[in-house]
Amino acid sequence: MGGVLDQFYNDNYSPVGDIVVVAMCFVMLILVYTSYVSKTRTFLYFNIIVGLLLFAAITDIAYHYQLSGITSAEGHVPVYIFRCLYYFFLTASLFMYVVYIIDVQRLEISKKKPILTIAMVAFGVVVVFDILGVVRETGFHINDDGTTTKGRNIFPVGYIVFVGIIIFLMIVYRNRIFKQVMRGFYGTMLVSFIIISVQQFSKQSSFTVATFLFPVVSMMYIIHSNPYNIELGAINVSAMEDMLRYYYEKNKTLITMSLYIKEFDEEGKNFPPEIQSAIRRFAGEFFKGAVLFQVNNGHMILLADKGLNPDYEKKILKMFNDFDVEYDQYKLDYKIVYGESVDEISRNHEYISFIRHIHRGMKYNEKHRVEMSDVALFNKYEYILKELADIHRGGNLRDPRVLAYCQPVFNVKTQRYDTAEALMRIKLPETGLVFPDQFITLAEENGYIHTLTKIILQKTCDEIRYLLQEGYEVNRISVNVSVLELRDESFCDDIFRIIDESGIPSEKIAIEITESQSEKDFEVMKSKIDVLKEKGIKFYLDDFGTGYSNMERIMELPFDIIKFDRSLVLASNNDTKSEKMVDGLANMFKDMNYSVLYEGVENENDEQRCINMAASYLQGFKYSRPIPIMDLKNFFSKVKETA
Ligand code: C2E
Ligand code: CA
Ligand code: CA
Repeated sequence: MGGVLDQFYNDNYSPVGDIVVVAMCFVMLILVYTSYVSKTRTFLYFNIIVGLLLFAAITDIAYHYQLSGITSAEGHVPVYIFRCLYYFFLTASLFMYVVYIIDVQRLEISKKKPILTIAMVAFGVVVVFDILGVVRETGFHINDDGTTTKGRNIFPVGYIVFVGIIIFLMIVYRNRIFKQVMRGFYGTMLVSFIIISVQQFSKQSSFTVATFLFPVVSMMYIIHSNPYNIELGAINVSAMEDMLRYYYEKNKTLITMSLYIKEFDEEGKNFPPEIQSAIRRFAGEFFKGAVLFQVNNGHMILLADKGLNPDYEKKILKMFNDFDVEYDQYKLDYKIVYGESVDEISRNHEYISFIRHIHRGMKYNEKHRVEMSDVALFNKYEYILKELADIHRGGNLRDPRVLAYCQPVFNVKTQRYDTAEALMRIKLPETGLVFPDQFITLAEENGYIHTLTKIILQKTCDEIRYLLQEGYEVNRISVNVSVLELRDESFCDDIFRIIDESGIPSEKIAIEITESQSEKDFEVMKSKIDVLKEKGIKFYLDDFGTGYSNMERIMELPFDIIKFDRSLVLASNNDTKSEKMVDGLANMFKDMNYSVLYEGVENENDEQRCINMAASYLQGFKYSRPIPIMDLKNFFSKVKETA
């Protein structure tokens, strides 16, 4: 082997260890930067450690290279400098390990302060002593004949102090980190200690920096890895909000393109190969520097730097053209949301909720361009959600933010108003009155709906008690209940408790539910209805005529009243054929002892038609818009005084 390398093999040092470290450091940096790792503070510390080890390895090589070139009194200064730098970088990396671990463990200031102080002092002492040792010739020294004297070396002492601190942190605060992760770190540290001990015994010095690198490898794998989905080339979504925020901070705009495919939005459902290759093509072909993120099974988001794609408007059009061609082939329902990144959303790490919010207002197979009005709506929605959470947590059954409105129902037989439907509104300081279309789904999705129902039921019971006390004739008031609530074990008990504590007869309350498609819900519904009907609570089937009704199932559930949706009232006005159909349905129900209630009766024409179509009850703007429940007394009549 030729001259240069030969020079290293003195002093039991070979540069292979350090060369591998240098290469490994670059490999790690390439990996973490091409997989869009979250740019957190922890990641910054990770980078600093990698950088310090890189420099340690380089200065170690340089130091030994210079040292082996020395023959006489010449050229000592570079040896001293590289050696001091080498120990400086090594000690600094030990210090940064401590900083890193403290950061990962999220230690409180009071706990981390003393530890950091000790580490800083140790760092200072080691560096200063090492330099002084060289300057005052008590430490490492090159003699005039070119031989070296080891002298006193402070570094092993420093090493032991830092390792002591690290072991202390890893043992005392081990519960701050997930157990398996901790085991990963213990394992790699153990490997490092074994290597450094073996090296010590065999009077070697080639692998010192390498042993410092092993924990970094485990940090990369455990904490800073962000693997690609091999088939799609997509990255885990956690990196996405990060990229958006990063661009926001750099004052740059991203083009965002979100694709949701309903078919695959399920646990365990994956894109078939032909769809995968289509997605890969869309992600790679149109925008320069585009990155694809996978939100969940059916949802992907593509981000690309707007600066790199000045003609992006044209590209989007072309992309959509190609997309439509693919759509014609697969016919999978989708929602596309696209546009430029919005600062406000990027800053708050809210892109995914934002896009999901937009999805809610979209039909399938639409492409929606993000507008500023979407942002305003989203903010309102977030605000409402926050208030709903607060109402839910508060648990006040008379929370003033939830308002009970109601609509009186006209009884065809008695020609009077003696029943009504309770309808929910919420009233918030920043929005004023909010209507159900803006919060019911939200409350259902976040598990707050049952709390809201309980509040409406409480307020309805309060009003019924008042009306009865005042001598009004109240047959019953119906309350809307969401199918989701019925799944709750405590549902029936909650309802009974509120009614009982209000001191009104339970037959004064009715429950409206809509038909559900799912078999499971059907069984749950049936058992709950049976329990509640025992106590005289009546059941209304809401919105009949809007879904795909399953007559067999409807008959199996003991409903009292079928509410014909406004769409049937409207349809019956179209042509005689439709009218006959609605009339036929209504009479069929009537023959089977159900009562029919028509909803959305708006004028006299509607009213007359409905009466001719077996109506028992009529509800709609013709009689009253929804009113605050306190105003119901204006519609109800007092029981006639008996002499
Ligand atoms: P729904 O149960 O079908 O309630 C009837 C809706 O029709 C009410 O809308 C009412 O204002 C409206 N409406 C009444 N008469 C007419 C009419 O003549 N013409 C037209 N075009 N519309 C009429 P609202 O109050 O906005 O409620 C909408 C939906 O929100 C309700 O539909 C119900 O599904 C839900 N909802 C309301 N309150 C509650 C509640 O307390 N709990 C639950 N789970 N859902 C509720
Ligand atoms: Ca209803
Ligand atoms: Ca309805």
